[in-house]
Amino acid sequence: MSAPITNRIQLHELHFRPFLSAEELESRVRELGEELSRRLYGGDPCFVVMLKGAFVFAADLLRASGLHGEVCFVRTSSYSGTRSEGQVKLLIPPEAELIRGKDIVLVEDIIDSGLTMQAFLPMLRELQPRSITLVTLLHKPEAQQVPVPVDLVGFTIPSKFVVGYGLDYDGLGRNLPAIYQLDESY
Ligand code: 5GP
Repeated sequence: MSAPITNRIQLHELHFRPFLSAEELESRVRELGEELSRRLYGGDPCFVVMLKGAFVFAADLLRASGLHGEVCFVRTSSYSGTRSEGQVKLLIPPEAELIRGKDIVLVEDIIDSGLTMQAFLPMLRELQPRSITLVTLLHKPEAQQVPVPVDLVGFTIPSKFVVGYGLDYDGLGRNLPAIYQLDESY
């Protein structure tokens, strides 16, 4: 049984309110999986998962798509607390031999400023994939500073910090089955 999401939660000193339920996530991820399956039918896919935040979404998306293919994990430097550090560093690079000639499904948890994808996409293209389909669970268009070629978006959300379903606040919250939004009224 998953935990109920009706309650506000506290992680470290911050309070969060329920935002997207586990049922909403499951239903949207199923749709995204089906769309991916249609787009990549007959292709040679490899899922490239942006750690750490996208690991829960990617696990569900991979199974919802029914696509057969390799999985490859990438880690860039991430947020510190609720703020971006500005500089994007590649901490775990993609495996070149899994990328070359493949139809890449690039799985991201959230596109905020767009700076992570702006920095990472050229690195991925250098490894000569056949195609790249960028899928993000969440997109904050109001926060975006640079253009990003997103192919599939789960939910377009306001520019407020969120946690749960893989996303954390300073190491906490990844286990939550639903997504919660920062509640600034506390
Ligand atoms: P961007 O480079 O687009 O600003 O941010 C991308 C990364 O920042 C995401 O992969 C994620 O790790 C982190 N991020 C951006 N917004 C949020 C948010 O609201 N909550 C959490 N937990 N991480 C975020």
